[in-house]
Amino acid sequence: MADLSTDVRHIKGVGEQRAKALNRLGIFTLRDLIAWFPRRYEDRTQTRRIADLAEGETACVAAMVAAPPAVTHVRKGMDLVKLRAVDESGVLDVTFFNQTWLKNSLQPGETYIFCGRAEGAHQRRKMTSPIVEPEGRREATGRIVPIYPLTAGVSQLVLSRSIRQGLDACAGILPDILPDDLRQEHELCRIEFAYENIHFPESPEALALARRRLAFEELFLFAIGLRQLKNRREVVHVAPCEAVDMTPFYEALPFRLTNAQKRCVEEALESMRSGLPMNRLCQGDVGSGKTMVAAACVYFCVKNGRQAALMAPTEILAQQHFAGLSPLMERLGIRCALLTGSTPAKAKRETAAQLAGGELNFAIGTHALITGNIVYQNLGLVVTDEQHRFGVAQRAALAAKGEHPHTLVMSATPIPRTLALILYGDLDVSVIDELPPGRQPIETYVVPGSYHTRVYTFLRKLIGQGRQAYVVCPQVSENEEQPDERKAVTEYAKMLQTTVFPELNIAFVHGKMKPKEKEAVMQAFANHETDILVSTTVIEVGVDVPNAAVMVVENAEMFGLSQLHQLRGRVGRGKHQSYCILISDNRNEETRQRLKVMAKTADGFKIAEEDLRLRGPGDFFGERQHGLPGLKVADLGCDTKLLQEAQGAADALLFKDPSLGLYPALAERVDLLFSQSTLN
Ligand code: ADP
Ligand code: MG
Repeated sequence: MADLSTDVRHIKGVGEQRAKALNRLGIFTLRDLIAWFPRRYEDRTQTRRIADLAEGETACVAAMVAAPPAVTHVRKGMDLVKLRAVDESGVLDVTFFNQTWLKNSLQPGETYIFCGRAEGAHQRRKMTSPIVEPEGRREATGRIVPIYPLTAGVSQLVLSRSIRQGLDACAGILPDILPDDLRQEHELCRIEFAYENIHFPESPEALALARRRLAFEELFLFAIGLRQLKNRREVVHVAPCEAVDMTPFYEALPFRLTNAQKRCVEEALESMRSGLPMNRLCQGDVGSGKTMVAAACVYFCVKNGRQAALMAPTEILAQQHFAGLSPLMERLGIRCALLTGSTPAKAKRETAAQLAGGELNFAIGTHALITGNIVYQNLGLVVTDEQHRFGVAQRAALAAKGEHPHTLVMSATPIPRTLALILYGDLDVSVIDELPPGRQPIETYVVPGSYHTRVYTFLRKLIGQGRQAYVVCPQVSENEEQPDERKAVTEYAKMLQTTVFPELNIAFVHGKMKPKEKEAVMQAFANHETDILVSTTVIEVGVDVPNAAVMVVENAEMFGLSQLHQLRGRVGRGKHQSYCILISDNRNEETRQRLKVMAKTADGFKIAEEDLRLRGPGDFFGERQHGLPGLKVADLGCDTKLLQEAQGAADALLFKDPSLGLYPALAERVDLLFSQSTLN
């Protein structure tokens, strides 16, 4: 009898030839085969009358072949099969390209289902290369048809027939890894029903049930795996940090920490004193003051005689962190260095030597901090800023440089809680849910392009009052197909300077400039040598200019909401009333609604939830960058409720049976899932 690891070659009705084709898709075992889920479905349950077909509509008709199909040889490699089919309402002329075998398989007088795009009107309706099968076969038509991801040499039909054989071979051997009581509690269908109906849905309702069950299972396995990972990690013991008098640090700050900041610092210090490696995510909206939480941890770590590293996703941000933190740190007797890709070779060598020798306490930089030849004498803490831009692998690479250093991940993109659970289920989480005092809410407006003159007048007024402004454009260079000067940073800056604001100082910065140039421009803006900074999203993360009070975003529809929120966070960092003006001529209703969310709320979490709902998780994390085991059925954008349910179920089960000793099949599946993941 077959089991799930049976080679697909040995499945009845598959055979060598098809097996080879399936292998090309990465399908080797029976398990792979039945878990090759459809990408989407087409409902081909209904047939229409030929006369009722609207031009351009895709539909199925049941029609009788009226005369033997005719083959015409057009030229080498191009043969046409033409036939006429009829139903009681009209005539359909059908043409196939290079499918000469159809001449013999389509019998005059027999009725077939033709499924395709209808062309032509009235009496002369036509279809070109429709899907065709005998009436009653109900394989490619007559049902809700799964559409699978394919590769060359494998057709939908081959795949769907192979999967049919696969499912038949599975009869009675599919283990249901979800315990019965759990299945009942969460109203999940049986595994056989789920696999049958995800591939061959009896009805839309059955498909929904199947989908729900399989998505739940994925999320549930995932949640269990992450929980176990977390539990496993906590087994490592490290020398606990000693308590440190933090007073000198707090006294060196120009402000008092907010209660939320204090709480996060305390939570972090407590972890570092526990004797277990800290693995903490500090989440806070833009401007909530995460840097100072990190700084407090660095101080604490260095006073414990160990080194700390802070890794930022961009050169500019690393430089700004260095500029902001090193005076404070040096005053406290902590020796800092900046290490980025553009650090000159000689300085790099010196810094590397001092890190290895222990003369430096604190390294700030980009991923240059984790490149091969950098060695630390004793790295005790790794802070990564804006974590979502780093892959998990990079985080691990840096962590590997020390003996289980404590890690603190600062996330400025408020990640929807559901997504944070998935991505950081193995981390402890601190949330800075309070902004420093005195911040005024940023007034946000969504306006059409016809408002440009008014926007410029407004900018002139605020700049006259001593403020500065950002103008963000979505593209670096002129795109010839969309000649819109506002999309091009350089062109736009030039236009503003020459025709709108000849009296002001305008600068621009974009990602294609050399790091040194970028830094100089940012620095000049921070020093108020320029009034308006035209830029791409390079200013998105972290750059701090408290005097900047206006953020204008051109073609705002081209940005994700979370990205707009990040951009908006660049203003309102000082004591001045600040504004965010989103310019968009896009009339699409959905786009307008999306942009309006920005005007309605300043809550980064809400915005992120909305973004996730509208655009899916891909925008938070580059595809697969997070190194998570693939979710094939579950959709993080839509299945948030289900995720919470699965998470709860996982917690409950692990509480009852932490080692999963009672559920060996489940334990095996979790291991399998995570053995393919880079999270380990
Ligand atoms: P983010 O969380 O976005 O990284 P930052 O750490 O850059 O925020 O802080 C934003 C601004 O708020 C900085 O100018 C910082 O100096 C200031 N800031 C941080 N904490 C406080 C506080 N407790 N009181 C007043 N200002 C603060
Ligand atoms: Mg920051």
